[in-house]
Amino acid sequence: MKKLSGVSVSPGIVIGKHFLYRGNELQDIPRYAIVKTQIDSEWRRFLTAVLAAAADVRDLYDKAVREMSKEKAAIFEAHLMMLEDTEFQGQIKDRLFADQENIEWIVWDITRGITAKMLTSPDAYFRERAVDIADISRRLMHKLLGIKDFSLADLDEDIILVAHDLLPSEVLAMNKDRVKGIAMDMGGQTSHTAILARAFGIPAVLGLSTITKEVNAGDILALDGSAGQVIINPTKASLLRHEDALKLWRRNRNKLLAAVELPAETRDARRVSLKANIGLPEEAATVLRYGAEGIGLYRSEFLFLTSGQAAEEEQQYQAYSTVLKAMGNKPVTIRTLDVGGDKVSPNAQPPSDDKNPLLGWRAIRMCLALPDLFKTQLRAILRASVYGNVKIMFPMISGIEELEQALAIVEEAKAECRQKKQRFARKIEVGTMIEIPSAALSADILARKSDFFSIGTNDLLQYTLAVDRGNEKVSYLAQPFHPAVLRLLKQTIDAAHERGIKAAMCGELAGTPFAAPVLLGLGLDEFSMTASSIPQVKQVIRGVTFEDCRALAEKALANTSYKQTETLVKAWMAEHNGV
Ligand code: PEP
Ligand code: MG
Repeated sequence: MKKLSGVSVSPGIVIGKHFLYRGNELQDIPRYAIVKTQIDSEWRRFLTAVLAAAADVRDLYDKAVREMSKEKAAIFEAHLMMLEDTEFQGQIKDRLFADQENIEWIVWDITRGITAKMLTSPDAYFRERAVDIADISRRLMHKLLGIKDFSLADLDEDIILVAHDLLPSEVLAMNKDRVKGIAMDMGGQTSHTAILARAFGIPAVLGLSTITKEVNAGDILALDGSAGQVIINPTKASLLRHEDALKLWRRNRNKLLAAVELPAETRDARRVSLKANIGLPEEAATVLRYGAEGIGLYRSEFLFLTSGQAAEEEQQYQAYSTVLKAMGNKPVTIRTLDVGGDKVSPNAQPPSDDKNPLLGWRAIRMCLALPDLFKTQLRAILRASVYGNVKIMFPMISGIEELEQALAIVEEAKAECRQKKQRFARKIEVGTMIEIPSAALSADILARKSDFFSIGTNDLLQYTLAVDRGNEKVSYLAQPFHPAVLRLLKQTIDAAHERGIKAAMCGELAGTPFAAPVLLGLGLDEFSMTASSIPQVKQVIRGVTFEDCRALAEKALANTSYKQTETLVKAWMAEHNGV
């Protein structure tokens, strides 16, 4: 038996077989010089790889024709043509002769060059085709390097998934009925894998550092998502303890769920709103079970991440309509596309050659640079708006110029809908996410052009404290009670209230019961979180008074370190009947 400790990101206990997933990621492509006499054999290796890849693509084509339609299968025909394209092959051959380097490196280098160029093309058609080149490149590389393709969608038995790291798109694509738990070397509380694991109700422990090295074939794991622990080959006694803990956890949960109909109101009648964060349209139907009063964050990019390509207007319109219909007239805030940074797809190359993607071309920056892509999404939202109460919000706004440009594009999208005689709701609120320190510091300026704010603490912490949200080595520094963070929160909330608009929060901090009294005291109006956290946060809110929370927040703001505030809040919680 061996015990590993990590970050507890999604509660629940599970015991069972594990599956070690190595992913289809290409890392460390070998690069070495060859001699003239090897050119021929390298070229032959390339042609063999093309033949093998083409055979796979032909199989996929046949399968797609059988299971879908000839039109849908056309994409594989296009892949085949690209693989067999004489110009593409000629380019590889020329480089092989000129550079005299191994063929894997040449194929990799040429295809990533083509993809990067296509992704920055002003023509939407070329940008969309970039993902096809990336796909072909991956296929060829796998053949050359002898790697077998595997998709987590193909899992056909119950397992605990063990991985070094997972992309959001891989979590989305996996067979969720079979994955009973997730244990990962990487990842922290606010990484996208954590957010998705919570959304799917899959117990997960991340940031375990070495689990992929520690597990051996046939090992049984006991994973406790609440305690942040994974035990490899537990003893019988430890198994029994886990089973008892599981029963207790279920009992507590049922007690909390009994309060779904009650309002989120303090004992002195300060009413706030508790909403849910979702990433998939199908989740909308389930959030009401936890008492969500609406959706405070719909991460629309997940529509794009599974396929690795831009979702078409019709597909987006369907997804947004599904969510709005499921929520009746409860508000639904759709966050416009936020790709780039850590939100990438394995099917697509990184969107650019950014050396530092978290500070690079992502979210609103990408949307403003690609107005066709942005407007397609906005039109889909506008058209769906007739089905409910939709709000739009922009991610990663760093200053007023970006906000003004984005608002102008919303107006253009509206004009286009009018021209096509497509109906949309008369009044649609447009809000700004405050997740970059510059936005928080200029919140008074942004408030003039925003209908509401939503604070994205995951990124706000990352950028304020210079802590990569996916890196467990530095996750101890991501302290929401750091004086700098508390000041930014206060400044943002005050700026919203001075302008008469609401301040919401949709980062993971909003779903942390321990932080709720301080957030209430700072004046936060709306908390949006993973739906399953709502009952617990509500229980805290209903157990306190706003007056007491205000006093607590004031003390927290006067503190000089996060440790002091942590101690303060702990003592405060104990004093207030352990809420
Ligand atoms: C955030 O940054 O807090 C946020 C809600 O957005 P995301 O986690 O999707 O980056
Ligand atoms: Mg964010």
